[in-house]
Amino acid sequence: MEFEDRYRPAQRPKYDCLLFDLDDTLYPYSSGLATECCKNIGDYMVEKLGIEESKMPDLCNLLYKYYGTTMAGLRAIGYNFDYEDYHSFVHGRLPYDKLKPDPVLRHLLLSLPIRKVIFTNADKVHAAKVLSKLGLEDCFEGIICFETLNPPGDSPSPCGLPATADVFDILEYFAQPDAGAGFELPKTPIRCKPSIDAMEHALKIANINPQRTIFFDDSLRNIQSGKRIGLHTVRVGTSHRVKGADHALESIHNIREALPELWEDAEKSEDVRYKGKVAIETYVTA
Ligand SMILES: [Mg+2]
Repeated sequence: MEFEDRYRPAQRPKYDCLLFDLDDTLYPYSSGLATECCKNIGDYMVEKLGIEESKMPDLCNLLYKYYGTTMAGLRAIGYNFDYEDYHSFVHGRLPYDKLKPDPVLRHLLLSLPIRKVIFTNADKVHAAKVLSKLGLEDCFEGIICFETLNPPGDSPSPCGLPATADVFDILEYFAQPDAGAGFELPKTPIRCKPSIDAMEHALKIANINPQRTIFFDDSLRNIQSGKRIGLHTVRVGTSHRVKGADHALESIHNIREALPELWEDAEKSEDVRYKGKVAIETYVTA
């Protein structure tokens, strides 16, 4: 009996990775950054791509709806632009000072000895700035961002003049009564959430097993794609749970109340580690 107790393998924690979206997930939508970001995207479309201002709100909505991000949609319908230029225009002048250090979240994250990774559609400069403003820059093992999924060598960032001759008029297309019937929209060369392919690719790059990972995101579409690829899902920013979300949190600060098992598992792992009987799993660097 004593022998069995000594050598009985400790129960493996259910989860070994936490995957976090960044914007409107690690900080609240009420910070105002998202609104400014939308405004900058609109300005970019008008100023840099020469899109008529009156078309802008509808076009933005359609592209976001069908392609995941406005940027991915703009590329799909035929606009060519430099990705770095786009990101620096859209994110470069965001009011980052609205973001303040979040010691509560920092403590919560650091109290969990589980691998933590950021997964954002934004570029790496933006991700680094946000994490630094929130005082969380050392809380994550890795960041999966725009550049991770769209490396320059993979599909070169198109430079030069915006294409205006053969742009697919998606507004006109959806204005037709039979829109969508038997027609496939042009594809985007940009990989981003909520595309299933892009998300599976991201998990592969970061060596993440979806069955053992909890995914936090404010976007319902991203959560639903996450569920489809086998992630355990937590929608952040609302306590209203919808199909596809295993949990819903008003704020990321509620993580401990919603998922107490994470801390319970962590304590068990600590016990095992200190008793020295069973080696705990080591982290894999993304
Ligand atoms: Mg988000």
